[in-house]
Amino acid sequence: MRLRYGPEEEAFRAELVAWLEENLPTDEELRTPTRSSADFQPWSRAWQRRLFDAGWLVPGWPPELGGRDATPVQTMIYFEELSRRRIPRSLNPQGLGIVAPSIRDHGTPEQQERFLLPTLRAEIAWCLGMSEPNAGSDLAGLSTRAVLDGDEFVVDGQKVWTSGAHHADWCLCFARTDPSVPKHQGISVLIVDMQTPGVECRPFPELTDPGHCDFNEVFFTGARVPRENLLGELNKGWPISQGSLAHERAMLWTDYAYTMQRAVESLVELAGRPGPGGRRVGDDPVFRDAVAGHYVDALAVMLMGYRGFSKFARGRASPEHSILKLFGSEAIQRCALTGLEAMGPAGLDQGLPGMTVNRPGSWPDAYLLSFGGTIPGGTSEIQRNIVAERVLGLPRR
Ligand SMILES: Cc1cc2nc3c(=O)[nH]c(=O)nc-3n(C[C@H](O)[C@H](O)[C@H](O)COP(=O)(O)OP(=O)(O)OC[C@H]3O[C@@H](n4cnc5c(N)ncnc54)[C@H](O)[C@@H]3O)c2cc1C
Repeated sequence: MRLRYGPEEEAFRAELVAWLEENLPTDEELRTPTRSSADFQPWSRAWQRRLFDAGWLVPGWPPELGGRDATPVQTMIYFEELSRRRIPRSLNPQGLGIVAPSIRDHGTPEQQERFLLPTLRAEIAWCLGMSEPNAGSDLAGLSTRAVLDGDEFVVDGQKVWTSGAHHADWCLCFARTDPSVPKHQGISVLIVDMQTPGVECRPFPELTDPGHCDFNEVFFTGARVPRENLLGELNKGWPISQGSLAHERAMLWTDYAYTMQRAVESLVELAGRPGPGGRRVGDDPVFRDAVAGHYVDALAVMLMGYRGFSKFARGRASPEHSILKLFGSEAIQRCALTGLEAMGPAGLDQGLPGMTVNRPGSWPDAYLLSFGGTIPGGTSEIQRNIVAERVLGLPRR
């Protein structure tokens, strides 16, 4: 049996590819360094705006929200084509991928007017205030408090790992509004202006590039947030942390699949080069074995992705997404380790193309950065728990 797309899907792909060829950012723009994941550059604002205006920003959404009512299969084609070219839709991924769907699903008409369209048009940048020093995997254990005082919430507490907070205009902040009920039931979501007195960002440098700070600690000290900035209902924030991400997650595997493909191609290309000691990298049987294994892994990610997607498109639960997050992020890490070990010190100035947008990187960089992929959105251990309990039916701990 051969699986193919139908003529309508192929026409959709052809229209997209033609548009991309006309409108893609230039290589020079893509190489422009950004300071963080909330730092729009003039070119990246203009690129996101072009996508929005042409109905290519969120194709599965209605036209008035930057989409074109694309079917799930068409949306998957869209993600395939962008991942293949390693082109980000937005340089503020938390704003477009997480905040925008949350506001679309849970915001009042006023909030949608005030925040959703400006987010889609890249006019405002967001950070995501979820993790805290004692609440990461167990997000429901968060202790940042928000207490209603008249028409305002007063927020006190600390977030950590808040990507781009020091450049963000707004924060989607998860806070405890009722400490007297079980932990999942007393959480609310607030839209916080990062300029509010009592909000302080402390960026901290990254291991791979000490001049580049994406992570922040964010401290809230008596920060007053208007009640109208409550997203969804009071104390009903937990489903927001889970719900709006589902659709996005169903498609994100394409990034793993194409990053794996590029990583294998880069390793194959390394094979002809001299490695440590002057020996050709590709003559080493350990390297050859490893690369063949990575190639099989790359195919497995692709096929598992299609399988999970086909279940998702038929409205069925697809545990493949946990398997893909786990396997995809760790397989990329194994590829980076193979490149690092094969090249030795020579790998310090030879990157793994496409591992990072606008940062050239090196094999050691790629390896260090790959740890980042195994942590957010549920660490590898959390994914293993999900696979054990929900896929294999092992007893819950
Ligand atoms: C690149 C990157 C970007 C991020 N951006 C943001 C952001 O913008 N906003 C934000 O709020 N957060 C962000 N985070 C934080 C991220 O969400 C947390 O790091 C993640 O949820 C894990 O939480 P933690 O670091 O507190 O680790 P912990 O939850 O403390 O886990 C520590 C270790 O214990 C393991 N562990 C925990 N619970 C279990 C369990 N039940 N069973 C087995 N093992 C377990 C974990 O797997 C891990 O190895 C980002 C993280 C990264 C790496």
